[in-house]
Amino acid sequence: MENKVLIFGHKNPDTDSITSSLVMENLERKLGNENVKAVRLGDVNKETQYVLNYLGIEAPELISEVEPNQEVILVDHNDKTQSIDNIGDAKVLKVIDHHAINFTVSSPLYYRAEPVGCTATVLYKLYKENEVEVDKTAATLMLSAIASDTLVLKSPTTTDYDKKVVKELEKITGLDINEYGVDMLKAGTDISDFTPEQVINIDSKLFEQSNKKFRIAQVNTADLDSIFKNQAYFEQAINDDIQKENLDFYVFAATDIINSNSRIISLGNDAPVVEKAFGVAVDNHTAMLENVVSRKKQMLPPILDALNNDVNL
Ligand code: MG
Ligand code: MG
Ligand code: MG
Repeated sequence: MENKVLIFGHKNPDTDSITSSLVMENLERKLGNENVKAVRLGDVNKETQYVLNYLGIEAPELISEVEPNQEVILVDHNDKTQSIDNIGDAKVLKVIDHHAINFTVSSPLYYRAEPVGCTATVLYKLYKENEVEVDKTAATLMLSAIASDTLVLKSPTTTDYDKKVVKELEKITGLDINEYGVDMLKAGTDISDFTPEQVINIDSKLFEQSNKKFRIAQVNTADLDSIFKNQAYFEQAINDDIQKENLDFYVFAATDIINSNSRIISLGNDAPVVEKAFGVAVDNHTAMLENVVSRKKQMLPPILDALNNDVNL
């Protein structure tokens, strides 16, 4: 079908997954590899649409499976549960990522992962290493991704290197991350026309680790109460998904981007794991996690620790 190398981020793509596939396509082309194409594995969320509208560019094409032996480059993920369904049929040439590594392959590949706030930060470094000039569009895409993943440099995932890259991207784009980035994040919090099922799937990730199958979904909001007044509807959508996918538990986190806290709903047979993971009491399936905003750094690791240390779960 496609003799081009396909570049894509994770399912339920966030801004980093969409923009990093576009930026990686641009970098590969500038390095002389014309035979590449950015694609996506899911709908474009409102935050990312804000970025595409700002730049006046189209979203990458949506795909749902690849042909056997299709050559691919993964950005912003490596875990197969978050990739295209038949990723096992593809030949992964490169991975550019900033998540914990849960990936095995039988043949050598280019694997670049750094513990920084965003895939775009790693990509910016690759432009520098390869002495490729960063154009304004690529710079805007990267600035958007960093603003998204680090919640405008407020998340504890933010490194000094992310901050340094942002300064350089601000120079190239003429944008101020505290204005542009905040407007972009706010655009992403508009869920007024979404069903509860759509809301929980804006940014939901599946994990199959420690002999458990679970999801951690996250939605950004500037108003936790507006979400939790509909708690019963979200619980219904979450329970439906638990049934459908046979999940052991589900954590839905509404992250307050103004105050940098998250309030969670946790459901499923193993839902009590969150009490141990976060040291909180769950009341009516919900708990407040103070100063917790990052799934990657502040939600997933304590949950895995609690699962690994609890023989009763
Ligand atoms: Mg991502
Ligand atoms: Mg990312
Ligand atoms: Mg994220």
